[in-house]
Amino acid sequence: MLLRLPTSVSEARDCLAEGAIPVGGATLIWAAWQRDGFPEQAVSLRKVPEATAVGNGVLGGAVLLGQVDERVPEVLRQAAKGVGTGAVRRAATVGGNIAGSSLRDLLPAAIVLDAWADVLTADGVEQVDLAEVQAKSPVLLSLRWREPVKGAYAKVADPAGGEVPTIAAAALDTEGVLRVAVREGYVVSSGSAGAGGGGVDELFAGPLSGLSDTGRSLARRQVTAVLGE
Ligand SMILES: Cc1cc2nc3c(=O)[nH]c(=O)nc-3n(C[C@H](O)[C@H](O)[C@H](O)COP(=O)(O)OP(=O)(O)OC[C@H]3O[C@@H](n4cnc5c(N)ncnc54)[C@H](O)[C@@H]3O)c2cc1C
Repeated sequence: MLLRLPTSVSEARDCLAEGAIPVGGATLIWAAWQRDGFPEQAVSLRKVPEATAVGNGVLGGAVLLGQVDERVPEVLRQAAKGVGTGAVRRAATVGGNIAGSSLRDLLPAAIVLDAWADVLTADGVEQVDLAEVQAKSPVLLSLRWREPVKGAYAKVADPAGGEVPTIAAAALDTEGVLRVAVREGYVVSSGSAGAGGGGVDELFAGPLSGLSDTGRSLARRQVTAVLGE
C-alpha cells in the first residue's frame, strides 16, 4: 500500500481522484484492511495545513484527538478527551471520529457549537452542515464554528453492560440561542431554545422528548451549567 502525504488541498484532491482511501490514525481502518485486504493507496491529510489547523474557530480533520486543547471550546475539548484510551487519542483524528466512526463522540459537541464542515470534493472545498457529514461521511478538511459564550459536556463513565455511553452537551451562543445535543445508543437528538424560539421546557417536550430518564437528566444538568440556573 502506498501512503500518500499531500501538502496542499489540490494535491489531496488529486490523490482522492486517483482512488486513494482517506486514512487518519488507522485506529479503526487498519483492522478492516487486515481483514479485507489493503488498498493500493491511502491518503493522509496530516501535511495539509488546512487539515492541521487548531484555533480561531477551526479544528482540522487531521488533528489528533490528543492535540485538541484550550484553543478550541471546552465542549469540544471535553469530547476529545473522553474518546477511548490515551493510546487511541494519540493516534485517532478528528476526521476519523466525526466522519469515519460510528460512535462519533465529537458530534454532540459539534452540534451544540452549530459547527459546519469544510469537506474535500472533486470540485474543491465545500462547506456542508453536520447532517451531511453524518449522512455522507465526506472527506473532512476541518470543522468550523463561532465561539460560544459558554458550554457544558458530560459523558457517562463506564455504563453497565458495555452499553454505548450516553453523552449530553449544551452551549449558549452570542445571540442567546441555547443548543442541546444528546447521544443515546448511536442516536443523536438535538434542538435549540431561546432568541425568538421556544423555551427550554419546549425543547425537552419537543425535539428531546424521546430521551430516556438518564439522558434527560444528564442534558438538564448541562443546561443548568450553561444557563447558571
Ligand atoms: C480502543 C478504542 C476505543 C474507542 N473508544 C471510542 C470512544 O469512546 N468514543 C468514540 O467516539 N470513538 C471511540 N473509538 C473510535 C475512534 O473514534 C476511532 O477509532 C477514531 O476516531 C478513528 O479515527 P482514525 O483517525 O484512527 O480513523 P481511521 O481508522 O484512520 O479511519 C476510520 C474511517 O474514517 C475515514 N477517515 C479518516 N480520516 C477521514 C477524514 N478526514 N474525513 C473523512 N473520513 C475519514 C477512513 O477512510 C475510515 O473509513 C475507539 C476506538 C478504539 C480502537
